[in-house]
Amino acid sequence: MVHNKVVIIGSGPGAHTAAIYLSRAELKPVLYEGMLANGTAAGGQLTTTTDVENFPGFPDGINGTELMEHMRKQSARFGTEIITETISKLDLSQRPFKMWTEWNDGPDNPPARTADAVIIATGANARRLDLPGEEKYWQNGISACAVCDGAVPIFRNKPLYVIGGGDSAAEEAMFLAKYGSSVTVLVRRDKLRASKAMANRLLSHPKVTVRFNTVAVEVLGEDKPMGLMTNLRVKDTITGKEEVVDANGLFYAVGHDPATALVKGQVELDNEGYIITQPGTSYTNIRGVFACGDVQDKKYRQAITSAGSGCIAALEAEKYLAESESPESEETRPSAEDRSTVQPAAQEVGRGETKKDLKGTTGEYRQNPLL
Ligand SMILES: Cc1cc2nc3c(=O)[nH]c(=O)nc-3n(C[C@H](O)[C@H](O)[C@H](O)COP(=O)(O)OP(=O)(O)OC[C@H]3O[C@@H](n4cnc5c(N)ncnc54)[C@H](O)[C@@H]3O)c2cc1C
Repeated sequence: MVHNKVVIIGSGPGAHTAAIYLSRAELKPVLYEGMLANGTAAGGQLTTTTDVENFPGFPDGINGTELMEHMRKQSARFGTEIITETISKLDLSQRPFKMWTEWNDGPDNPPARTADAVIIATGANARRLDLPGEEKYWQNGISACAVCDGAVPIFRNKPLYVIGGGDSAAEEAMFLAKYGSSVTVLVRRDKLRASKAMANRLLSHPKVTVRFNTVAVEVLGEDKPMGLMTNLRVKDTITGKEEVVDANGLFYAVGHDPATALVKGQVELDNEGYIITQPGTSYTNIRGVFACGDVQDKKYRQAITSAGSGCIAALEAEKYLAESESPESEETRPSAEDRSTVQPAAQEVGRGETKKDLKGTTGEYRQNPLL
């Protein structure tokens, strides 16, 4: 069994930013990038898009897959060991933490690796609706992120549609109203789930129409390779009547699924399944387990915010490891000889505690050599 100080699980901007910082700090991180984990290629969500225009440093935009290849190379350059396997089982109840890989995770299989610290950066997936035409026009008119894609020319001064009735749908619609000729929000039920303030703003927006009791049933468009969507078939859920409307953009705001099955029952999750981190930090409820990226962020969900939180996770993991190794925290440190034996159960950190309450840790990095 191999032991490492720190293992990163995931392969998006959060994971690779953490890897760059930890490898530059000479902590020799191991990064499990997954083998089509959760149905997404190593590199994460950006591998499913074309141009990324809002990641700083690329004034002409950059293809999503290419951006992730750059990040991967940068992680490897400083010594990150990248393993193309999916972590399918984690035991965070004892130190060192244990992990198993897919296909080698049976009750008789020893763990593939143990680690003193783990960074969870497994991301999230935007929910899809599996409409006819969805696959063909995905990223050719259909998007799951208005902030990411709304400004691209194909949507300018065109009729746009948003599906969803919550706060995200309302935010996306109002954002898109800057670009589209009109924005129509399709709401399956007869009312919005969005907060009252948000609903009022949406309903009073001059460019936005909300169609209640209406669902999208088919996406239509140009019949050629890379053809764009041009129309949407919608259905009134009460009368059953269908109609085809002009639509050059369709934005899904029907939620995301955070990839937290791996840590469910061990790490504290919110009611939507996202990892709960202490605000402004990557700390989970288990000391030595950190989370970054979309798996713990249901609000911003951007490449740059994921990268930023990956940096935070790396610096906090580095500090945690340094403090675990210092003589003052002897009682919490796994000694060299018992690295191979079971350590006391992980100390859980209560939700109400502040960073100062975390034994052996403080929130700041004043002494961090990187800062
Ligand atoms: C179509 C689309 C377009 C987008 N466009 C933009 C944009 O233009 N600009 C922008 O800022 N943001 C954009 N985003 C959002 C952005 O992609 C995400 O915010 C960002 O990728 C989240 O990064 P992350 O680090 O949380 O990991 P993710 O990108 O979510 O990747 C995590 C990856 O980790 C791997 N993984 C998961 N579980 C395991 C496991 N158990 N073991 C090993 N590996 C595992 C998988 O490969 C998974 O995909 C877009 C998203 C989508 C879906």
